[in-house]
Amino acid sequence: MTHYGMIIDVGRCVGCYNCFIACKDEFWDNDYPPYSRAQPDRGQYWIRLKEKERNFPQIVVRTDFVPIPCMHCRDPPCLKAARDGAVYVREDGIVMIDPEKSRGQRQIVDSCPYGVIYWNEELQIPQKCTFCAHLLDQGRKRPRCVEACPADAMVFGDLDDPDSELSKLWRSAEVLSPEQAKGDLLAPPGSDEHGVSVKYLRLPKPIVGGSVIFGDTGECAEGVRVTVRGGDGVAAETVTNAFGDFMVEGLRMGGKYVVRLEHPDYQPKELEVTVNGDVNLGEVRLDRR
Ligand code: SF4
Ligand code: SF4
Repeated sequence: MTHYGMIIDVGRCVGCYNCFIACKDEFWDNDYPPYSRAQPDRGQYWIRLKEKERNFPQIVVRTDFVPIPCMHCRDPPCLKAARDGAVYVREDGIVMIDPEKSRGQRQIVDSCPYGVIYWNEELQIPQKCTFCAHLLDQGRKRPRCVEACPADAMVFGDLDDPDSELSKLWRSAEVLSPEQAKGDLLAPPGSDEHGVSVKYLRLPKPIVGGSVIFGDTGECAEGVRVTVRGGDGVAAETVTNAFGDFMVEGLRMGGKYVVRLEHPDYQPKELEVTVNGDVNLGEVRLDRR
């Protein structure tokens, strides 16, 4: 059997919105009975790009983009909320909303923990990503969004094939949590209680950064060794740049860490940090030994 799935590598996504536009191009004003009815021109995002701005002056200013389609859950809450078989899971794992049976069933929209179902006011039906099932059934290999991605940030394939690229990446991929999808992208990844068919690589994680200064000269402290320790040991290491700046990524939301700064000519300094988002320690001065 085939079980379709997708991995989105956030580290490769450049935020070009090609996937979003390809989805609009495929579904806006186009009916594909019995798969789906036309997507309206406003208010629906079958693949939504969520953005997280990271702003550490002099170190990094960038935006991370996380595309969020339907997760095509193996145990979908939307199916449980639907009446009369209006939501069903195909043999290939694609979760579909029947555009006829779902008419008037607004409760289906609210049932999705990821917030990826949209209400079509004109047609009075709930709608969402179908993995382009109408195209796959015609022999196409990938949904339009995956085809349109210029950065190869999306891998689509068969999770039941252990040799597929998707299956190999799957083991190390993370589950997007409903909190990340609906709230802060830096929230902890999910536990996969619904058995998702979409996972992620390199989801954004909290950053800790700062600027180190030699206290006696007031100069930028280049070459200071920075070690970030959590309860599980060393979480990250780096060295300050020519401006005395440093930044480490990949920390756990809610985690408690000790940031240790070391230089051969200066007294080491330790700072305790609780990570409830990105943390900018600002200016940190080191005293000469
Ligand atoms: Fe249903 Fe939401 Fe899961 Fe998609 S992500 S299958 S819409 S519960
Ligand atoms: Fe990111 Fe690819 Fe979508 Fe562009 S098309 S926003 S690179 S996932």
